[in-house]
Amino acid sequence: MFSRLVNRVRDMFAPRYEIVKTPRIISRDEHGIDPSLVSVEARKTCEALQRRGFKAYIVGGAVRDLLLGVTPKDFDVATDATPEQVKRCQRRAVIIGRRFQLVHVIFGREIIECSTFRALEGEGQRKDATGRVVSDNVFGEMWEDAARRDFTINALYYDPQTEELFDYHKGFEDIAAKRLRMIGDPAVRYREDPVRMMRAVRISSKLGFTIEPQTERPIPQMAKLLENVPSARLVDEVLKLLTCGHAVTCMTQLRAEGLHRALLPMLDVIVSEPDGEKFLMLALQRTDERIAVGKKISPSFLFGTLLWPQVVKRWRYNEEEKGMSRMQALHAASVDVLETQCQQLNIQRRYQADIHDLWMLQARFERRTGKNPWSLVQHPRYRAAYDFMLLRSMLGHVPVSQVTWWEEFVAADSDRRAAMIEAAQQEARQTGDRARTRRRGPRTDAPASQTVPGESRPRRRRRPSRRSSRPRTEADRNA
Ligand code: ATP
Ligand code: MG
Repeated sequence: MFSRLVNRVRDMFAPRYEIVKTPRIISRDEHGIDPSLVSVEARKTCEALQRRGFKAYIVGGAVRDLLLGVTPKDFDVATDATPEQVKRCQRRAVIIGRRFQLVHVIFGREIIECSTFRALEGEGQRKDATGRVVSDNVFGEMWEDAARRDFTINALYYDPQTEELFDYHKGFEDIAAKRLRMIGDPAVRYREDPVRMMRAVRISSKLGFTIEPQTERPIPQMAKLLENVPSARLVDEVLKLLTCGHAVTCMTQLRAEGLHRALLPMLDVIVSEPDGEKFLMLALQRTDERIAVGKKISPSFLFGTLLWPQVVKRWRYNEEEKGMSRMQALHAASVDVLETQCQQLNIQRRYQADIHDLWMLQARFERRTGKNPWSLVQHPRYRAAYDFMLLRSMLGHVPVSQVTWWEEFVAADSDRRAAMIEAAQQEARQTGDRARTRRRGPRTDAPASQTVPGESRPRRRRRPSRRSSRPRTEADRNA
């Protein structure tokens, strides 16, 4: 109650921002959008609405991309038709959402998201004690819809029919100046929806724009508000951020703004581990590289990477302190980390199973004998797990010889594969004999000379265990 009052008063004294009701209309000659970059489906969606007398425009990130000469990855349409009316105009459409009702217009695999102009402040809008908007479904005018969008560059409306661009908040100029500017008072807008702070980081990093000083200034002080945002929405945003193709810049910026703490509480833990920061940045760099060449990124791979240093720490502990076998120790570590982190991060169940597989396969890569190699390369997660191992090896946590062995094994025919396994078996026997005759140091995932993120040796000595005393990795042999 009290905080609501404080927010009201604060809003009353906040600098007044001009309400703009008339857009500047920018002609095709001036904006130079190439109409061939507009998707056929977005065009059809607008046409169907316009034929029935409604207004309909392409809006948001798509217009931004069109102005930058980039093919948009998806198209959003804004209209004065209500969701019910939109549904009636389109062949296949479904109404979704409760907090904000939207219509998904479906064309095979292509979906055009169609939203009705939202009113600026209405009876139907409800806020929580922190000022966060929790529900609103009141429809309004086009200028109101523009004022409610986050950044000026996201409030441009493009009519594919007339090729005119409608600009209420000088977004066109901001695009030219490569500037990200909040519409209205940034502090008020962040309080209404703290996710806008993350969007500022993501969109500016992705486009290489600078965040205008007034828009940036409140972020570090308001970062804590992200804690009030439902975690499912945060996870969505984190995923968007990590897969926007500029994850390295985003992460650096997030940390500079102090936003990462609420988003990824484990990030501080990760980067505080020896080599943890390097591991994280390398993983993000690889993600960006994959996206740059059009490859897919799975959320489970990303979360698997972020959480891995914690798994390794527990894996080692279970093995060395609890005397579990290598596989058992990893399994217990994985379950433990998934249980604690997934709850906090709200990682969906389907991702959890994949993450678990990704981690378990890391131990299986160490076994190049028996039937394991044959079945491992058939595993549906083999490719992802191999990429993950590659990442570990780039930091020296897995011997390069292990990586090349698997590369060779995958490329070989069955005779050669059998010969490779035979050779590995012999080698294992020899090293086993040697190991039995000498005092062994603690098992590591990497040669003793190399540091491992989160894989640093525990201070206490390992309790010897019969099952875990057999060396399985080249690293062990080198240790
Ligand atoms: P991209 O799709 O490239 O990630 P985008 O700007 O299109 O970026 P979307 O999440 O698709 O992002 O949102 C579409 C549009 O909806 C935005 O351009 C913006 O106008 C508006 N919007 C989205 N999220 C918010 C928000 N939190 N507050 C205000 N407006 C928003
Ligand atoms: Mg979009």
